[in-house]
Amino acid sequence: MKKDISTLPLIEAFHADDECPFCYLERAAEQHAISFILGSAYMEDYIREKTDEEGFCRHHFKMMYDYGNRLGSAIILSTHLKKLNEQLEQQLQRHTPQKSGLLKRMKRTQAAQTQAKTPLGAWLDQKECSCYVCSHFNGIYNRYLDTFFDLYRKDESFRTLFSNSKGFCLPHFRDLIECAEDKLSETEKNDFYPKVSALMLNHLKRLQSEVSWFVEKKRLPQQR
Ligand SMILES: [Zn+2]
Ligand SMILES: [Zn+2]
Repeated sequence: MKKDISTLPLIEAFHADDECPFCYLERAAEQHAISFILGSAYMEDYIREKTDEEGFCRHHFKMMYDYGNRLGSAIILSTHLKKLNEQLEQQLQRHTPQKSGLLKRMKRTQAAQTQAKTPLGAWLDQKECSCYVCSHFNGIYNRYLDTFFDLYRKDESFRTLFSNSKGFCLPHFRDLIECAEDKLSETEKNDFYPKVSALMLNHLKRLQSEVSWFVEKKRLPQQR
C-alpha cells in the first residue's frame, strides 16, 4: 500500500476500527483546529480575520467552550461579534418586505442554495452554516475522498482494508456514493457498489443488534 503524506491519514483511519473512518478523520481535524486556534494562533491577525468572518457552528462553539481557554475564546468572540453586529446592521437596513413577484423570482434563483424567502433570511442561513472549524475540515475532506478512490482503484491491499472496515455513517456514505459516480468507471462501480452496500447493511444491522442487546441487558423485568 502506498503510504505517504497524502495517503497515510486515510490508511490510519481505516486501521482505527472506528464505526466510520471519515468521522475518525473529522474528529481528529476538528480537535486539531480547536487546539490550534485556542493554543496561541488566536493572537495572529490572519487567523482572527478568518474567525471574525466565519465564526463557529453550535457544535464547535461548544467544543471551544469545553477546551478550557475562556479568555482565548472571549478574545476570538469579541472581534467576531463586532464584525457580526456590523454586518447585521447593514442587512437590517437593507431589509424590506418583498413584493410577491420579486419573491417568486428570488425563490427560483436561490432555491438551489437556500429555502429563504428574503435576502435577510438567506444571509442568516449562510451565517448559521459558516464555521472556521467546519471550513478547515471541508477543505481537506474532498482530498480524502479523492485519495480514497485513488487507492480503491489502484491498490488491492486498500480494497481488502476497505472490505474489512465497518462501513460508514450515513452522511459520509452519501458523499462516497455521490463521489463514486464521477470517480469510478462502469466496471469499477459494478465492483464497488455491491461491496459498499454489503458493508453498510451488515454493520448497521450489527449496530442495531448491539444496541438491542444493551437494552435487553439493562431493562428491568417489569419493563420487558
Ligand atoms: Zn462518518
Ligand atoms: Zn463547525
